Amino acid sequence: MHTIRLKPGREKSLLRRHPWVYASAIQDIHSSLGIGETVQVLSAAGEFLAWGAYSPYSQIRLRIWSWEESESIDNDFFRRRIDRSISLRKSFIDESLASGVRLVHGESDGLPGLIVDRYGEHLVVQFLSSAVEFWRHQLVRLLEECTGIKTIFERSDAESRSLEGLPERIGSLSVVEPFDQTSIDETFIIEHGLKFRVNFRTGHKTGFYLDQRANRLKIRSYTAGRDVLDCFSYTGGFSLNALLGEACSVWAVDASAEALNLFKENLKINHFSTDNINLVEGDVFQILRSFRDQRRTFDTIILDPPKFAPTISQVERASRGYKDINLLALKLLRPGGILCTFSCSGGVSSELFQKIVAGAAIDAEVDAQIIEHFHQDFDHPIGINFPEGEYLKGLALRKV
Ligand code: SAH
Repeated sequence: MHTIRLKPGREKSLLRRHPWVYASAIQDIHSSLGIGETVQVLSAAGEFLAWGAYSPYSQIRLRIWSWEESESIDNDFFRRRIDRSISLRKSFIDESLASGVRLVHGESDGLPGLIVDRYGEHLVVQFLSSAVEFWRHQLVRLLEECTGIKTIFERSDAESRSLEGLPERIGSLSVVEPFDQTSIDETFIIEHGLKFRVNFRTGHKTGFYLDQRANRLKIRSYTAGRDVLDCFSYTGGFSLNALLGEACSVWAVDASAEALNLFKENLKINHFSTDNINLVEGDVFQILRSFRDQRRTFDTIILDPPKFAPTISQVERASRGYKDINLLALKLLRPGGILCTFSCSGGVSSELFQKIVAGAAIDAEVDAQIIEHFHQDFDHPIGINFPEGEYLKGLALRKV
């Protein structure tokens, strides 16, 4: 059995059940350890603290599987964790309302680095840590067993893989490819009465931003009879909900031509007329400026940018980016208009985000009220001892 001993005093975060141990907390390693191997973590005094997985390259040197000394980290352990994850979601989701669901959300589901999204009859998996990479074959078979789903696609191309010293991997993981389905990489999902085409080979993340599901539904109530601007629209998630909410017109802006092509298809398959829809391919920072210069105004604006600050180190630059777009959006809003503004940057807390938006309002010389807070949807839970799991935050503001 491999053991790792921590420096004196560095057991505190493990006693609070935080699932990461940084390299700087480690005193010594008793034996040569392979990537992702299971180790027993001991305090400086030699007491058992947890079972973890070793990651030689990442600053997060250990990820914790369990705090129970009697637990064996084996196939049955992973079956229990996956089953638990799936059953915790069952009571919350009606598949006829939402056929795209995150089944496993990494650390917050006790499986550090494992992401599993279900898109109808397909699973898309990300192995983002050495911990789950070590168990990948077992995990794929268990996911098949626990869900009964046979088509499993891997999207292990997130940046965090390189921090773990792991190569990028994209492709099918299904054992037996039904021979007419060898290149399955897309499907349709249903979300609250709308249909979306999802491409899990070329789409962002695993193909769709499932974390915004609840918020997409909520914005319907801010769109009836209104002119809506959807910035960073991707494949139309918010825009289509605005149309269903009976928006008068929708302008959608995204830098990705591929996303906008899927957006057009999504309009078609949901039978929306395109008369009152304008899709603009371009940079939101520039388009907002040109709209300001043209004195164009809107009743509802949505800002759902990509992660500007994945980690704390990029927070300052990210803050400037958030301030810039929020300031411009507040200027483009008509009085009484609604701004739904989001940040999915792990490095930007909800308090900081609110401060940035408040600063933007001051600089835009507008008064505003917060009328709603937004969060990631229920299938992206936040482990009670893992505050890093909270990454998506948003505000609905009303311009006074
Ligand atoms: N709201 C969407 C998800 C948005 S993801 C939904 O509910 O599905 C962020 C999007 O921002 C991506 O589609 C990406 O192509 C786009 N993007 C990133 N930087 C951009 C920029 N500077 N200008 C315009 N779009 C950008």
